[in-house]
Order: sequence, then structure tokens, then C-alpha cells
Amino acid sequence: KKYIYSFEEGSLDLKPILGGKGASLGEMTSLDLPVPPGMTLTTEACNLYFENDEELPEFLKEGTREYLKDLEEKTGKNFGDDNNPLLLSVRSGATISMPGMMDTILNLGLNDTSVQGLAKEVNDERFAYDCYRRFIQMFGDVVLGIEGYKFGRTLDSLKEEVDADSDLDLTTDDLKKLVAQYKEIIKDEAGIEFPQDPMEQLIKSVDAVFGSWNNKRAIVYRDAHDIAHDLGTAVNVQTMVFGNMGKDSGTGVVFTRNPSTGVNELYGEYLLNAQGEDVVAGIRTPQSIQTLKEELPEVFDQLVDVTETLEDHYKNMQDIEFTIENGQLYLLQTRTGKRTAKAAIKMAADMADEGLIDKEEALLRVEPEHVEKVLHKQIDPEAEPEVIAKGLPASPGAAAGKVVFSADEAEKLGDKGEKVILVSLETTPEDINGVIASQGVLTTRGGMTSHAAVVARGMGKPCVCGCEEIKIDFEKEEFLVGNRRFEKGDKITINGGTGEIMVGKVEMTEPRLSEECRKILKWANETKELGIRANADNGPDAKKAFEFGAEGIGLCRTEHMFMAAERVPLVQQLILSDSEAEKEEALAELEPMQRNDFEEIFTEMKGKPVTVRLLDPPLHEFLPDLVELVEEIAKLESAAEDNKEELNKKRKLLRKVKDMNESNPMLGMRGCRLGIMVPEIYEMQIRAVFKAAVNVAEEGIDVQPEIMLPLVTHVNEFKMLRSRVDKVADEVLAEADSELSYKVGTMIELPRACMTAEEIAEEADFFSFGTNDLTQTTFGFSRDDAESKFLHHYVEEDILEDNPFISLDPNGVGKLVKMATDDGRKANENLKVGICGEHGGEPKSIGLCQEYGLDYVSCSPYRVPVARLAAVQAKI
Ligand code: ADP
Ligand code: MG
Ligand code: MG
Repeated sequence: KKYIYSFEEGSLDLKPILGGKGASLGEMTSLDLPVPPGMTLTTEACNLYFENDEELPEFLKEGTREYLKDLEEKTGKNFGDDNNPLLLSVRSGATISMPGMMDTILNLGLNDTSVQGLAKEVNDERFAYDCYRRFIQMFGDVVLGIEGYKFGRTLDSLKEEVDADSDLDLTTDDLKKLVAQYKEIIKDEAGIEFPQDPMEQLIKSVDAVFGSWNNKRAIVYRDAHDIAHDLGTAVNVQTMVFGNMGKDSGTGVVFTRNPSTGVNELYGEYLLNAQGEDVVAGIRTPQSIQTLKEELPEVFDQLVDVTETLEDHYKNMQDIEFTIENGQLYLLQTRTGKRTAKAAIKMAADMADEGLIDKEEALLRVEPEHVEKVLHKQIDPEAEPEVIAKGLPASPGAAAGKVVFSADEAEKLGDKGEKVILVSLETTPEDINGVIASQGVLTTRGGMTSHAAVVARGMGKPCVCGCEEIKIDFEKEEFLVGNRRFEKGDKITINGGTGEIMVGKVEMTEPRLSEECRKILKWANETKELGIRANADNGPDAKKAFEFGAEGIGLCRTEHMFMAAERVPLVQQLILSDSEAEKEEALAELEPMQRNDFEEIFTEMKGKPVTVRLLDPPLHEFLPDLVELVEEIAKLESAAEDNKEELNKKRKLLRKVKDMNESNPMLGMRGCRLGIMVPEIYEMQIRAVFKAAVNVAEEGIDVQPEIMLPLVTHVNEFKMLRSRVDKVADEVLAEADSELSYKVGTMIELPRACMTAEEIAEEADFFSFGTNDLTQTTFGFSRDDAESKFLHHYVEEDILEDNPFISLDPNGVGKLVKMATDDGRKANENLKVGICGEHGGEPKSIGLCQEYGLDYVSCSPYRVPVARLAAVQAKI
């Protein structure tokens, strides 16, 4: 078996054993690019090292010597020579990159005599001692485990002593003195003389770099990034080139395109007369790569050439490390460069346009989340905000505004055009007005799928949830973080992408779908199979959805139409009144309001299908909270002046609220059960839908209404309600003399409905999986409680791989979805099948929907672009 490769023998496909760095050095060597020669000891050699009690086996030491001879021939220099010594770098390089986790040693091979040889050879004694002191420090640090600050401290006090501002001001004599002092440190700390034998230096260094695979930092990093611990690292032993040889030498990093904007321009930094990590270490401020054009024009041109060659070859943006020695360019590393969301999108689109990659590859290069990230206001990368707390990043984007502590206050200020951030324990459906009126939401309780999070994501509003460090005092209208106090009206900024809470109004950048993003999404539509619909229940949301490319509305929740401030009293009248006449009156007033909502939505959707779900939540959600009511009554009772009338009204209300109280409201009288028990509400809604459809159709706009019945568990429920839908639809359509066609289907959100999908499909035109409730009822987890109480722990302890309310559970819930889809289509081959839970916008779940053969997914408008990309990736 081969454990050592020269760079000539290496190539990209050997990356698993050569590591990323070694493979790239091999690949660049075979492209005839200027790479200092060297060898790679493989990751398998690393495993041998660990098996051999953390020592390089004898035969590998021998092999290393052999390859070293080859390097000596290539360079014409001899390792450890007193005259013109060959110097080496020893560099770690794992297969999966672990930036900054492992170690590098430079200038290896120097000792008290060869340092003189180096000085003579290049005729620069200062340079030679600069190399030597760097080597001793790195060797001390990496091989002997001496803390870096001990060297740093000595360097600093020497600089002070001789009044030097920068390392460059140190004279040859200063550096000689430093070398002596460093050797003392080695003796004191490690109890050995600094080794003078180059071969010993080399073997010890290779050992140390292999050993660094299991240093604490590296282990923690691998744990955090799910990287296997038995992969091992490779070690690269490479001929040194010197960037610290004077003004026409230097070292730097260059990206073939701008990694933050994606613009096709050389981007990077360099330092002249510097070595190794000086550029990133911040010892001196590096210069922009563009100034190299003036300083060393020939090198710059060569660099441009090389970057083009590399990008053409790798067909991706490269992040390249280089060194210039006496005007000669050398490449030391190349890898695919990290990039921002914006840059990823632009580069993918540009590279496909340039013909560097094909469209399919471009579609795979962009992560679905990238598309969402660029759609929101972002914290300006130049800003330096003061972060005071961190919660869960529940809905991306940044928002700034004045702190308010109630939804009504938010609405009041919002109406005046003020920007506010709603700060609250958790939000409820009644707080919708406040969420709408604010720029963003911050809650101190609740998880990623809490009410606030779901609603905020749906609206594309930034939201940070579960920020427990913040303690709200509602009485005083203030909150505390540590011992800092923020009052109502104080400005804060939240970043829903990171969960950070910041002081004041932080600078932001504006959101928009860039031209490149539109292009990528257009390509996505050419190939994807899944339809993408949106969840929207008003005109503005429908408009957004249409703009973002939604192919219909998959879920219009009509309860939100009942929540608007002016409608709540009517809804309460409907629920509370004992007289039929009063109920009729309330319904008669509500109907045109709902019709108006539907007209707006149908108009915005320009002929695309709109699925309207009839009222789903239990009615008591529209009534005041029981506890609050009891408190109000207590207050009235103890008040000085008596207010009998008001008190009686409240008491009556309390009785009603108590009457309607259910111990398990999510499994109580809601959904189609409510529709069956209180028929007039559904009838009003159906009438409103069809009247709206007729009106909009009369204006020449195509309309495709789809009525969806929620929470069906037995086919007979569906049959009964379907006949009512058909009856009302017939009446309205006959009256208007309309031929409009429509569909009636059901939400599938209970296990029993899945089990009996065949029966239900015989009666229904479509299924839409309500996977929020289906997950809740399949797991037997109450969603509102599970997240805050135990789900987090479950995921942390690996009891569950993912939160099933975020990512569709393939083994349980997913199986039901698949089975119900197949069974349903058996009974009704024209059955349309979609999904409208929160999962409809989550890329992994979208992949499953493609696999199950669903017709469409439906998600919040802002997730539509994400879903389009995820859908095409699922197809490819
Ligand atoms: P990392 O993985 O931390 O980037 P590297 O092995 O790339 O570590 O080494 C860090 C730096 O050391 C390189 O960017 C380069 O500047 C310098 N370096 C490494 N090998 C050589 C060499 N053969 N000649 C000159 N400089 C080198
Ligand atoms: Mg590097
Ligand atoms: Mg539901």
C-alpha cells in the first residue's frame, strides 16, 4: 500500500487519502502551475501513526527520507546543508476542511549552522534569522506544546527595549538575540535543547501534525460539525518559498470572484515582505489585491492568468493562497471558496451564462435558504452593533423599532406610521393586529414553530423567539437584560436570521429578488415537477405570493378573516347570542366582509386555483380569555362605584366562556365538527366564496375556487358537508347564471383519515395534507406544549433526529402521507394531492413530497422562492 505521494503523483480524486490541501497541490502540479515541490503522507499513514502509539512507523520514516532525496534533486538544495539548505513546511490537511483547527510549521531545517548558510546564499543575514526565530516559535508551539504567548511576550519586550514599532524594525542583531531567547524558552519549558538535527525536526513535526488530529480543539470542532473522528489528517511536506525576502516578495490570499457580492473580479489581500499567516494574523494591515497591479505588475498579470486557469479547471470560485519570492509567483493552496447567499446566487447564474457550468449544476449550487436570506432586510455587514441577548432565529431578516409590550399598543403606534418591535412572552391569534403593525417580533418564550414564529414567517417578518435572557415587567412597561433596562419606546434591532438582539437602530440593507435570483428561479420552473402554492389569507399576501411565483393558493385560512378588530364583536355576537335573529344579523354583516376578502384574493391570483379552508379553530378562540375575565369581574366587584350592568354582562359572558371551555380544544369541537354542529357559519362562508367568485369572473378574470373541509376523520362527515357546499354553490351559481366550476376537497390531518383515504377519495376532488395537525395527532404530541417542554431535549439527546414539526417525519407521518396518497389515487385517479402544513416550505420535506408523488406543496409567500428551488433540487 502507498502511504506517501509526491505532488506529481497526487490529484483531486485522491482527496480522501491526500486530504483537501494535498489533493489540490497535486492537481495544481499536474496543471503545470508553479507549486513548490513536495510530498503528502496520507490519512492512512495518520491512522498507522495512532496505531503505532503515536509515533511514525519506521518504514514511513524511511519512505519520507526517500521522497526527501527526490525533493533535493528537484531543487538542487540539500536538507540540513550548511551552505544552501533545503527548507520545508509541514502542513496539515484533512479531507473535510477544518479551518484553523490544526497546525503548520514553516522554515523547517534551520539550525545554528544552516541559518548561516541561508544568510550567505541569499546574502541577507536579517532574513535568515527572521526565518529561524519563526521556526523555533512554531516548533515550540506545535511540537513541544509551549503556549504561543510565551514567545509573543518575549518578542514584545524586545521590541519595547529597542523601541521598534513593528517586527520589520528589528535589526539582525535584535533577531539573533531573539533566537537565543527563544531557545531558552524551549529549554525552560520543554526541558530539551532545541533540536539541531533537521531529520529529527522533520519526523517530530510530522508526528506532531498527525497528533494534532486529536487535539481538543479539533475534536470539539468535529463533534460540532458531525465529522467522523477516524478519518485522520494528511501531512504535506513542501519546499519553502519565501515571501519575506524583501520588497518584491510577499504573501497573500485571492478569490477568483468576490465572495461577498459574487461579482466576477479578483478579490483578495496581500502583504509584501511577509511570511505565512502574517496576512490573516493582523500584525500588519494587508493591502487590496488591486494595488498589486501597480506594485508588481508582472506578478499581478501572472496571478490573473493562474486564477482563470484554476476557475476554468475547477468550474467554481477558488480561494487561493500564494507567495511571491523575488518577483516569482508560487501557489500554495486552492479550494472552493466560501460565499454569502447573495454571491452564491450571482455566481451560479453568471457561471451558467458564461457556459462554465450547465443550468442544472447552477440550480444545485444555490442552497434553498440562500434564496430566502436575500429576500429580507439584512444587518449592514459594515455595521458594528452592540448585541445584548440572543434567542432562537425564528424568522429571518432584520428589523428595528421602538419597543412596545402589547399588540394594541403596536397597532396604535403602527397606525401612526411609527416603527415598533412587539416584545412579548408569546403571541396568540388575538395579537395578529400587533404582529401586522410591527416591524418584527421578539418573544421570551416559545420555539421555532410557536405562534409568533409561524405567523411572522408567514408574513416574512423578522422574529426572534424564546429569548429567555430578557425579563419583561409588563406593569412598568420595561424589560431587563442582565442589569440593563429598556423602556417602552426605546429603540432596538432584532436579527431573525441569527437570533441577536441589538441596541438602537442598526444600519440595514434593502431586500429584493435580484436579477440573478429571478433567473435561477426561472430555470427552476423549467425543470421542477412539484407545483408550488402559497398559504395566504388576504389580498396583499396573495399579491406577494403571485410575485414570488406561486402557482395558486394552497391554504386560505378563513379564521384570520374573523380576527380583524372590527369583526371580532360580530363574531362574538354570533357565538353568544341566544336569538336566531341576532345571529342572522351578525352573519349578514360578516358575509360581505368575507366576500370582499375573497374577491381581492381571486383578483390577485389571476386565474390560479385558490383553496379556501372553512373555519377551523374552536369558537372560544374568538372569546375573551377565561382567567382575564375572572380578573375583570373581580375588579368590577371591588370597585367603589357599582356598575351593575357591566358586571352582569361580564358574568353572562363568563358563563358562556365556561360552557364552551374544553379540556382538549385541539381535539374538541373544531374543524368540520364545528361546521356540522353550527351549519350557518359554513353556509355564510361558502356563499361568500361563490359570490366573490361570480363577481370576479364577471370582470373577465378566470377563477378556480376550491373549498376545503378541515379535520375530516370519517367519510360521512365529508359527505354531509359536501352536499351542503354543493347546495349553496348551486344556489349562488344558478342565481348568477354562472357555469363556474369548482372543487371540494379535504384536509387530511388525522390518522383515521389517512387509513380510510380510499373511501374519502371517492367523494373528494382533492386532498391537502395538513401536516401540522397530522404530526400532532400521529405522534400524540401537543404542538404548543411539546416544543417548549420536551421536544428540544429530545432532539438534543438524539431521541428524535429532527423536530417533526419543522421537518416531516419520514417513518411515521410521511408513511401515512404516502399511503393515503396512493390509496386515494386508487379510488380517484383525478385526485389532486398537496400539502399545506409548515413543512411545505422546508427543503427536506419538499424532497419527501416529490418522492411521494404529490402534485404540489403550499407554503408562506416568502418561502415560495425557496420551495421552487428545493422542488427542482428534489427532481434533479
Ligand atoms: P492552513 O491550513 O491553516 O491555511 P497552511 O498549511 O495553508 O495552513 O499554511 C499556512 C500558511 O503558511 C500558508 O498560507 C502559507 O502562507 C504558508 N506556507 C505554507 N507552506 C509554505 C511553503 N512551502 N512556502 C511558503 N509558505 C508556506
Ligand atoms: Mg492554507
Ligand atoms: Mg389543522
